[in-house]
Amino acid sequence: MTCLPSPLCSDRVIIEDMSYKVDLHVHSKYSGDTDAEPEELVLRAVSQGLHGIAFTEHYSFEASEPVERLREKYEDAIMILRGVELSAAEGHCLVFGANTDRLSISHAPVETIIQVVNDAGGVVIPSHPFRRGSGVGEALLRMQGLCAIEGCNGANLLAFNAKAIEAARELSLPFTGGSDAHAPEEVGSCYTIFRDRVSYDNFLDLLRKGKYHGVDARKISRGWWPF
Ligand SMILES: [Zn+2]
Ligand SMILES: [Zn+2]
Repeated sequence: MTCLPSPLCSDRVIIEDMSYKVDLHVHSKYSGDTDAEPEELVLRAVSQGLHGIAFTEHYSFEASEPVERLREKYEDAIMILRGVELSAAEGHCLVFGANTDRLSISHAPVETIIQVVNDAGGVVIPSHPFRRGSGVGEALLRMQGLCAIEGCNGANLLAFNAKAIEAARELSLPFTGGSDAHAPEEVGSCYTIFRDRVSYDNFLDLLRKGKYHGVDARKISRGWWPF
């Protein structure tokens, strides 16, 4: 095992023979704000050497149901996971492990979403928390019951990611990475490295255990500054 300093998302990047890279934040045409075909996104993830890709369509968990048919086709190449990116009252949150369409929590306060999702067996991870206009912002520091914080978002300015990682450390929470891709070429720009082998069965448990960290593989900062 070799440890190298990283200028971006973590003090040290652990390079192991067996590390599991999963892009935890990807949008396809089922999000409604891109025409990206799920299969093209999956193929890009495979070509990037990722072990998993998570579809997190806007607002609806059930919207990504059609990607399930790709699981069998690519079972030897990559894991295809599903979550959702909800809009809470304060900002965006990734949710895994719960069918939020049945929980009636869209646009609810994050506190409510955390409680309802956790009770339903899922996990909540605020996405790009310090992106102006769609992140939960400083409210993050008062939230209880979060699983992790998205520290590396591929559609974010580096400065906003750095702030999110700092907040994760302050809260003693792990931080994830995801590309927030809306096009195939964006897949894998950020991802999460798990120290344990990820499977469909243990994915949620591993998220809760926190043995992972986000990685920012971009060469340049990219993101929105909506002013
Ligand atoms: Zn978002
Ligand atoms: Zn997103």
